[in-house]
Amino acid sequence: ILAAETLHKSFRTGSASVPVLTGIDVVFREGVCYTIQGVSGSGKTTLLHLLAGLEDPDTGQILYRNQDISRFSRKRLAAWRGRAIGLVFQAYHLLPELTALENVNLPAMLFGQRDPKPGWELLEAVGMTHRWQHRPWELSGGEQQRVAIARALRNDPEILMADEPTGNLDEETGLEVIDLLLDLQKSRGKTLVLATHDPRLAQKGDQQLVLTGGKLERVDPTSAASVPISGPPKHSLESRLE
Ligand code: ATP
Repeated sequence: ILAAETLHKSFRTGSASVPVLTGIDVVFREGVCYTIQGVSGSGKTTLLHLLAGLEDPDTGQILYRNQDISRFSRKRLAAWRGRAIGLVFQAYHLLPELTALENVNLPAMLFGQRDPKPGWELLEAVGMTHRWQHRPWELSGGEQQRVAIARALRNDPEILMADEPTGNLDEETGLEVIDLLLDLQKSRGKTLVLATHDPRLAQKGDQQLVLTGGKLERVDPTSAASVPISGPPKHSLESRLE
């Protein structure tokens, strides 16, 4: 459903150019949970930003169902992201002026849908209807993340991307939130790309990837060793996409 082909990304700081991603080739298939494990600063957030079209790579392509997203107009890119991708962040990013229910319904309101019912059903799915009127500061971290997960699902996206979703939570709450995310991903048939520095959370992925030295390696579940993902022969990715 989504693929990256020979992605490179550097950041220029002063006169120095710091390479962060140095050749990423990966294919994400429908309904599969992928974890991307990497130490702090390895480039997980940068990779998710490129995959969601929030930033442009220096070179390389992101393909969504065989379409190169760099060819989308700005308007089409924003509409694609809003409908195809649900984002969950470490810091929740709920709007403080809005109630939990309004936060969940916000992505749909941006597309002109005002029916609050789907938002209510999502609050039910994440176990938060009893807090529907609460503003973010009246919720615990775990509760805020549940609301943020409901919001990410509001436009029924095909792909969920979660960037260190448990980074601000204690261990027990973090595990509850991850289990909820995985339940919803499986029951709704979503593709999930979950970035985490935590090896225990990374193990929960159907496919475990490690970001190291600017490249992705795949963890072999039988030996727990990681093996480089070899770049596909040029122009062959489209045939491997589903
Ligand atoms: P963490 O787990 O700590 O969030 P990460 O794996 O998500 O880290 P990134 O946030 O992608 O890593 O950052 C990767 C590297 O790129 C870091 O060294 C960071 O300093 C650098 N970097 C990220 N964004 C920028 C930017 N806008 N300008 C300059 N350097 C940047």
